[in-house]
Amino acid sequence: MIHIKSKEDLEKMKRAGEISANALHYGGQCIKDGMSTYELDKLIHDYIIKNGAKPSFLGLYGFKGSACLSINNKVIHGIPSKKEYIKEGDIVSIDTGAFIDGFHGDNAYTFPCGKISEEAEQLLRVTNESLYKGIEQAVVGNRVGDISNAVETYCRGFGYGVVKGYTGHGVGREMHEAPEVPNFGAPHRGPRLLAGMVIAIEPMINIKGDDTYTQPDGWGVLTRSGSLSAHFEHTVAITTDGPVILTKPTII
Ligand code: MG
Repeated sequence: MIHIKSKEDLEKMKRAGEISANALHYGGQCIKDGMSTYELDKLIHDYIIKNGAKPSFLGLYGFKGSACLSINNKVIHGIPSKKEYIKEGDIVSIDTGAFIDGFHGDNAYTFPCGKISEEAEQLLRVTNESLYKGIEQAVVGNRVGDISNAVETYCRGFGYGVVKGYTGHGVGREMHEAPEVPNFGAPHRGPRLLAGMVIAIEPMINIKGDDTYTQPDGWGVLTRSGSLSAHFEHTVAITTDGPVILTKPTII
């Protein structure tokens, strides 16, 4: 069932989204060579708590962290670890969310650590751009497939792989609600978009190949090809005035 949010719900979601976005970009600003993913997670955790919210991911399905931290060829769901270090030239995907006043925000961004390769730079730019191609389609009367197709078509144009095993989703009182929002597929298919729906659009894009596999820890998802992967995500409300991004940071 797809939940339609009221005006009051959307106001609350804006607050959850803002804290999520600020926590995400605060984390991004803290990234430095030699830092463990555990340290980075702790900073994000403390930021969310300090702002009166709860980290949405902490304990979700048993996840041990407040952010999924996925370096280089890791696509998503990286568990923060005291044994894993970020180094200069890495790309670090942070996925985090905040829960406040009954609602969640959810967002992700892939940050460079210092100077990164040109191919990594292009991957980050194109994946972020594909998110906005998807958001443009998040309008009343369109279907989910219009978002999916816009993301896929844009990324395929660069020869990139599109992850198929994981998708965007509805978001609200639960972190993961209906509908699924895939990053691939035909246009004009899937559920019709209605005013008051809130969805997380989240392209997960690989330089090479669509395929992924899961690490032995049961969480981390890696590219089968070993290539770099990027992940960008916004929580977006569908309104009669067009798409409204709820996860806009206000600290940068
Ligand atoms: Mg999500």
